[in-house]
Amino acid sequence: MERETRTVELTVETSETVTLNRHRKMTVALCTTCGSRMLAPEDAANLVHLSRRQIYRAIETGDAHFVEQPDVGLFVCIGSLKGVSK
Ligand SMILES: [Zn+2]
Repeated sequence: MERETRTVELTVETSETVTLNRHRKMTVALCTTCGSRMLAPEDAANLVHLSRRQIYRAIETGDAHFVEQPDVGLFVCIGSLKGVSK
């Protein structure tokens, strides 16, 4: 009797859930430019200790990688923000 071989396809999600603290979970995406995590500007601001104003400025000047989608809003790349001066 032959064994049946099955192919199982796995779908890899490009987003994951991280826990910043015990009370708050959030969904993050991955930057298509550098592969770093992307967060909403206010969450990114907390993580990299920049003000939201500094983050928006970095987006406008092109220093920060970002993605904007109508359904989820703006996400900014943490990796690119590490090079932004405070
Ligand atoms: Zn990036």
